[in-house]
Amino acid sequence: GTLTVDVDVLVIGSGPGGYVAAIRAAQLGKSVVVVDKAEVGGVCLNRGCIPSKALISAAHRYESALQGSEYGINVDGVKVDWAKVQEWKNGIVKKQSGGVGSLLKGNKIQFVSGEAFFVNESVVSVATESDSTQYKFNNCIIATGSRPIELKAFPFGKRILSSTEALNLSEIPQSLVVIGGGYIGIELGQTFAKFGTKVTVLEGSDSILPGFEKDLSRYVGRSLKKSEVEVVTEALAKEAKQTDSDVTVTYTVGGEEKQVTADYVLVTVGRRPNTDELGLQAIGVKMTDRGLIEVDKQGRTSVPAIFAIGDVVPGLSLAHKASYEAKVAAEAIAGEPSAVDYKAIPAVVFSEPEIASVGLSEPEAKDKGVNVFTGRFSYGANGRAQSIGANEGFVKLVGDKDTGLLIGAQVVGAEASNLIAELGLAIEMGATIEDISLTIHAHPTLGEIVMDAAEGALGHPIHMI
Ligand code: FAD
Repeated sequence: GTLTVDVDVLVIGSGPGGYVAAIRAAQLGKSVVVVDKAEVGGVCLNRGCIPSKALISAAHRYESALQGSEYGINVDGVKVDWAKVQEWKNGIVKKQSGGVGSLLKGNKIQFVSGEAFFVNESVVSVATESDSTQYKFNNCIIATGSRPIELKAFPFGKRILSSTEALNLSEIPQSLVVIGGGYIGIELGQTFAKFGTKVTVLEGSDSILPGFEKDLSRYVGRSLKKSEVEVVTEALAKEAKQTDSDVTVTYTVGGEEKQVTADYVLVTVGRRPNTDELGLQAIGVKMTDRGLIEVDKQGRTSVPAIFAIGDVVPGLSLAHKASYEAKVAAEAIAGEPSAVDYKAIPAVVFSEPEIASVGLSEPEAKDKGVNVFTGRFSYGANGRAQSIGANEGFVKLVGDKDTGLLIGAQVVGAEASNLIAELGLAIEMGATIEDISLTIHAHPTLGEIVMDAAEGALGHPIHMI
């Protein structure tokens, strides 16, 4: 018969949700098995966050070498060795994935390669190439993540790429059409544009990076223009015709039909949760009509022994959200009163310039009836920003006038991804905007922009008339 293994906690998926949940559960004394049908580390580490940020960084290095003369640094014969760029990027992924593997081992967590499927409410079978094993669990955490949405008219393969293939191209394309101007499409499109690809972005709504305030995204729009990226908004991509060497995309904009031909088309129109092949319906795990698993504040599904975290549950599809929910679910399983609170969850776009936000935007706060006050300070007036050649951008703080508390912040500009950490902490700790203004920020740093914005909100900015 089939081998059956008893385990306290079975985790399905080893992405930033799954591996973190496994470690936290092990720390709390549970025996843990993690199953994944692919590499350790999930999408984020193998074909998401990490490889994309590596390529972005390589593109910046290339661009700054080309633009050195502005700073009196003249470099001749700057060239891209794409094979080396890919090798470097793949090396980082390998190191990171090895690191997660060691963490699992160090916490005495067993990693099992194979595809998981629910046999019933307390048994999962894991199929490998040759056999299958059943795991009888006390608790299970579903962390199977998501995959790129495929459009009927643009089936992945050959010249039609998902983000996964785009990260692993063996050459820099001469031209690329990106369908979908969300953060994944913009990050990748802008990166290839910096490497010299002629990029066209087709976005369905009226601006790129929908979901972020236009005040922020217009900086990215300007930068894309500088790299000669053509952005077409309110564009509806209709069909693709492929030859051996290129692909022609037909789209409509303002009722007019147009075509654009490129080496490849990259489709980044969102991600679909991996919940359809787990046998969830049969065991009564409730899902939304979009296939997302419904959970309570501890990540518990409608089947009490089973939890779900990360891209398979509603909310932002982001790695740090998955990891956060992972810790809550593991602690809940161990009987702790942990529960999620999303009020200070950051969202970052690693575009140029970077965009980062946390908490409420001004319009969101006003919608909620908050008596809002704001402060805003520009990178251009900050000494450090000037000395690193990063004059574009601003920090905006959103406060509640009745309490003085910081309730939201938005940053566009260099290192926005790092600056947002302080603001997330401030919201989490219940800091007032005055607390931020009283915090001594080292000089000269970009962090002083945050302090200046706080002084501005309080009506006594030192560095602004
Ligand atoms: P995943 O990371 O998707 O992992 C799920 C795992 O489950 C996979 O390894 C899969 O093989 C496994 N699995 C699925 N079904 C089964 C099964 N039946 N049996 C066994 N195993 C199974 N997020 C950020 O926060 N910052 C970024 O900069 C960022 N950049 C991104 C760039 C790109 C190009 C992409 C595509 C995504 C990016 N993301 C980013 C999003 C981030 O990758 C996801 O939000 C995150 O990976 C979700 O984590 P997860 O643990 O829910 O699932």
